[in-house]
Amino acid sequence: MDAFDTSVSDVAYENRLRPREFSEFSGQPKIEANLEIYITAAKKRSEPLDHILFSGPPGLGKTTLAGIISAEMGTQMRTTSGPALERPADLAGLLTGLQEGEILFIDEIHRLSAVVEEYLYSAMEDWAIDVVMESGLYAKSVHLTIPRFTLIGATTREGLLSAPFRARFGIQERLDYYSPQALSGIIKRSASILKVEIEDNGANELARRCRGTPRIANRFLSRIRDVAQVKGNGVITKDIANLGLEMLGVDENGLTDMDRRYLTCLARHSGGPVGLKTIAMSVGEEDDTLENVYEPYLIREGYVSKTPQGRKLAPRGYDAIGHEQESSLF
Ligand code: ADP
Repeated sequence: MDAFDTSVSDVAYENRLRPREFSEFSGQPKIEANLEIYITAAKKRSEPLDHILFSGPPGLGKTTLAGIISAEMGTQMRTTSGPALERPADLAGLLTGLQEGEILFIDEIHRLSAVVEEYLYSAMEDWAIDVVMESGLYAKSVHLTIPRFTLIGATTREGLLSAPFRARFGIQERLDYYSPQALSGIIKRSASILKVEIEDNGANELARRCRGTPRIANRFLSRIRDVAQVKGNGVITKDIANLGLEMLGVDENGLTDMDRRYLTCLARHSGGPVGLKTIAMSVGEEDDTLENVYEPYLIREGYVSKTPQGRKLAPRGYDAIGHEQESSLF
C-alpha cells in the first residue's frame, strides 16, 4: 500500500484531529453556509434533516461533516458502509433499530448492491420497509414502519449512483480540494492539538504540497513531527518540512512516488492514450485506487487528461517527471 493512499485511514489518529463543530471546520465555506441554513430550518420545524449526499475525493471531510451535522442536530449517528450492507436483511436490522431523527451514515454508498439500494428507496421516502419473513413456500412480506431518519451518504464516485437514487437526496454537496491557505490553517490547528510547534513557513510548505487534502496534511504532520524531534529542536520550520517531505518521497509539486510512476508509465507509452488497467498493472496498484485516489488530483491539476480511448499525458505531466514530450524531439 502506498503511504498516500487516502482511501485508507488511521482511525485513532484521525479521530483525535477531527473537527467536532462547524467553528473548527474550515475551507469549504459555501457548503458550511448551506448546511447551517438547512440545519437551522429543520430544527425550527422540529423535523429530521433532508437526506444528504456528499461527494468528492477521499480525505476531504465527508465523514467529518456527517459527524458535525449529527452533533448540531443533537442526534446519534450510526455509521456503516456500502460494502458492509450485503443483504436487505442487514439494512432492515439497522433501520428498525434507529430512533426518530437519528442519522444513518453510509460511506462508499456507490458500492451498495442494487437490491439494497431499492430497499432504501421506500425507507427514505415513506419511512417504511417490506421485510420478507421465512422463505420458500411460506415466504410472506411484512410492512414495517420505521422512525423518520436522515440518511447521509458519502461517495467518491458520484457518477456510479443511479439517477433515481441520487434524486432521493434533497441536499447534495460536492467537496472540492482545499486551498493552500485553508490547509495551512488546518495544519496549525492539528499541530496545536498534537502540541507540536510549527512556524508559518513550515505550515505553508506542507499546505502547498499535500494535494489539497486535509487527510494527507495531517499525515504529513505526524511524520514531520518526528523529523523535527530527531533532526531539529522539535519545531517544524520550513527546512524541517522540506527535509521531511523529501524523506517521504514528496516532490516540489506535492507528487508522490506513485504519481510519478503513473506519469512515467504514460510517457513510456508515447504519452498515451493508455487504458487504466494497463497503467494499474505497470505501477502495481489497484485500478480502483488509481481512479478514486490518484487520478482526480492529477486530472484537476492538469498533469493528465482522460479521453474515451484512455489516459493521456499533458505537457505539465511531462514537466513533472523531467521528460521531454516525444513530438517536441523531432
Ligand atoms: P472523507 O470522509 O471525505 O474521506 P474525513 O472526513 O474522514 O474525509 O477527513 C479526513 C481527515 O481530515 C479527518 O481526520 C479530519 O480531521 C481532517 N479534515 C477533513 N476536513 C477538514 C476540515 N475542513 N478542517 C479540519 N480537518 C479536516
